[in-house]
Amino acid sequence: MSKPRSRREFIVAGLALPVAAEAALESPPPPLPAAAPETGEPPVIRKRTLGRTGLEVTEVGFGCMITSDASVITRAADLGINYFDTARVYQSGNNERLVGAALKGHRKEIVLSTKAKGGTAEEARAELDESLTQLGTDYVDIWYLHARSSADEITDDLREAQEKARDEGKIRFAGVSTHKGHEDVVPAAIEKKLDVVLMTYNFTMGDRMEPLLASLREAGVGAVAMKTQAGGRSDEAKARYEKLTANGGMLAALKWVLRNPAVATTVPSITDIAMLEENIQAMGASFTPADEALLAARLEAIRPDYCSMCGECEGTCPKGLPVADVLRYLTYAEGYGQFALGRDNFLAMPRELRDVRCDDCTSCPVRCPQGVEVTRRLRRAQELLA
Ligand code: SF4
Ligand code: SF4
Repeated sequence: MSKPRSRREFIVAGLALPVAAEAALESPPPPLPAAAPETGEPPVIRKRTLGRTGLEVTEVGFGCMITSDASVITRAADLGINYFDTARVYQSGNNERLVGAALKGHRKEIVLSTKAKGGTAEEARAELDESLTQLGTDYVDIWYLHARSSADEITDDLREAQEKARDEGKIRFAGVSTHKGHEDVVPAAIEKKLDVVLMTYNFTMGDRMEPLLASLREAGVGAVAMKTQAGGRSDEAKARYEKLTANGGMLAALKWVLRNPAVATTVPSITDIAMLEENIQAMGASFTPADEALLAARLEAIRPDYCSMCGECEGTCPKGLPVADVLRYLTYAEGYGQFALGRDNFLAMPRELRDVRCDDCTSCPVRCPQGVEVTRRLRRAQELLA
């Protein structure tokens, strides 16, 4: 069986040693900077330029995917956050309506992005028209091709659809989002002259994404980071995980992402005011040795559960199960509390994959070098979602 990353690899990844991690886990919470609403002072707002778009976006943006309370989104805009991200499919199509209503009074001050899953130009354009209706706006600032995993999924037809939408004034800039296959998608985005790439980037990835982010920066393509805090955990990991969260682990994770100047903005999922107030503190805050220790502790706590979709699974499932995808659907359902989103994605797989049961296997050739307990987690996904 493959071993999880060694102590040496922790250092390479820029995180503290496990000994320090344990200390962080057991020690009392380090004091957090005072939240803006408690002091009455406005929060520090810092902006970066989103590549060649020239848009000035706040370092901390707002991922709306799992937000159910419109007032939290409005409050973020009131505080000065100016980048908001949604997608046509979020919350079974309801998220855009919520986001549009929440930001109605702020539309001219903000950068609004949405995404289309369609695989053909016709499907994507129909999604865009519906997005504009639900968002209650004439245009979106960035329109992403949603969740592309390979260069082949950024077809010339889809690129033409994006350019046509731009000519019609329905979008300002074109982008692509990617959960996996970054090594393929990022170069394709540069070659196909997309303006923005929205990609997974967090501390569990160490320095693996640095060359890709540097290439985007050099090409003038804006980079937006998602899944910034490696959220999502099983019930078993929850106690340790929540302790770390209370200790400032979520803020530390966001600060880790913002250490990289190639990242223009971030879209952490935010569901309540407390989370908003914590995340907003990442702007203007430095990443400290205490943050390093916290993240190393979090990495240990989530290791058996958290799939970063790195694409480095050793071995493949002989039944064709897309392991990383199924683990992502489980993260939606179990870690983010978005059961419908996880199940919708699971049920969208072809029937022959939906019907696979890991319980029927006596052995499994799939191993995760990052330490995810793959078979256990796949069984849990099938138990919850099939
Ligand atoms: S299971 Fe492990 S190796 Fe496979 S994609 Fe997830 S993190 Fe990477
Ligand atoms: S245990 Fe699951 S992932 Fe492994 S071979 Fe069987 S069906 Fe495939």
